[in-house]
Amino acid sequence: MKLVALTLKKNIMSMRDIKVCLLGESGVGKSSIVMRFVTNTFKSALESTIGASFMTKTIVVDGDTFKFQIWDTAGQEKYRALAPMYYRGSAAAIIVYDVTRESSFHAVKGWVHELQRHGPSKIVLAIAGNKCDLEDLREVQERDAQEYAREIGAIFCETSAMTATNVPELFDKIARMLPPEDSGSIS
Ligand code: GDP
Ligand code: MG
Repeated sequence: MKLVALTLKKNIMSMRDIKVCLLGESGVGKSSIVMRFVTNTFKSALESTIGASFMTKTIVVDGDTFKFQIWDTAGQEKYRALAPMYYRGSAAAIIVYDVTRESSFHAVKGWVHELQRHGPSKIVLAIAGNKCDLEDLREVQERDAQEYAREIGAIFCETSAMTATNVPELFDKIARMLPPEDSGSIS
C-alpha cells in the first residue's frame, strides 16, 4: 500500500502541463494528426474546425508524465494575426507540411521565422512531413526536409495521420527534448 501511495505521489508531482501548438498551411493534416494522437482515429474528411480550441492527452515518457495541451489552428491558418494566440506560452511547436505539396514545405520556413521573431524565446521546434503514406504523389524528399530541420535544430519526422505512422513517436520526441523541471510548463 505504502509503495502504491508513494508511486502515485511521484506521478502527481512529476506531471507536467505542456502547451503545444500546430502550425502550417491549411490541408496539410494538422487536425488529423491531433485526432490520431488523442483518439487514435482518422476521418478522410474532417470538418474545417475541430470545435474545441485545444485537446489534451497525457503520456508517460521515461517515467515522467506529460499532459499535452494541444492547440490546433481551427481553420484560421489564413489569419496570421491570430497565430500568436496559438504559440504564446507554448513549450513546443509542430510545423506541419504535406509531403505531396511542395508549397506547403516552403511555407514551413515562414512559420519558423514567425516563431523566431515573435514566439517564445525557448521553444522546442518540430517539423512533421505528413501524408507519407502517399508515396506515389511525393513532391518533397525526406532528406531535404531532414537537412533543413538539422540546420535549424528542429526535431523532424515524416508522419501519416492516416496510417498512424510516427504520430505518437513525434510527441515522444518532443517530450524528450523539453528542458527539465518546470521551465517548459504552463504556469
Ligand atoms: P488541416 O487543415 O491541416 O487541419 O488538415 P486536415 O487534418 O483537415 O486534413 C486535410 C485533408 O488531408 C483531409 O481530407 C484529411 O483526411 C487528409 N489527410 C490528413 N492526414 C493525412 C495522411 O496522413 N494521409 C492522407 N492520405 N491523407 C491525410
Ligand atoms: Mg484543421
